[in-house]
Amino acid sequence: MAILEILQHPHPNLKLAGEEIKKVDASIKKIIDDLYETMYSFEHCVGLAATQVNIQKKVAVIDISEERNEPLCIINPVIIDTKDEVTEPESCMSVPAGISENVTRPETVTVEFMDAEGKKQKLTASGFLAKAIQHETDHLNGMLFIDHVSRLKRERIEKRMSKWRKRYADHAES
Ligand SMILES: [Zn+2]
Repeated sequence: MAILEILQHPHPNLKLAGEEIKKVDASIKKIIDDLYETMYSFEHCVGLAATQVNIQKKVAVIDISEERNEPLCIINPVIIDTKDEVTEPESCMSVPAGISENVTRPETVTVEFMDAEGKKQKLTASGFLAKAIQHETDHLNGMLFIDHVSRLKRERIEKRMSKWRKRYADHAES
């Protein structure tokens, strides 16, 4: 297992969609293990998509539990039904600098996916889990949560991130 480096916005590869996975073989299992290890290495990381670690395959892991013991692996997720709407702050490991913005999304989703054993699954989730599933599914389709906010807000985020990058670079040099 290995802790992988997480790409940060505006890395162009974050805009690439992952490829569909046909079969869960040893190489996919290794990716899943590495995704879990990387996610669990950050206290507040509740989900991680392969595309965030520069692997263009449709697989992501999620664990929203406080005890960090409810792992959920979603492969080729497709949201097939949604219900109601909710607006809540969202953040992302690929959009650092403490950035968090309100995003409006369906409150309940039904998602079809393949699990880590290669079995077809269907799950209906609400609340925080629904948000995490949508956020990770977005990543696998080359989208970030900031693609859901207004242009004005996005420009503000870009400014904050470039300041943060500059400070980080200055710090790294000294
Ligand atoms: Zn994210």
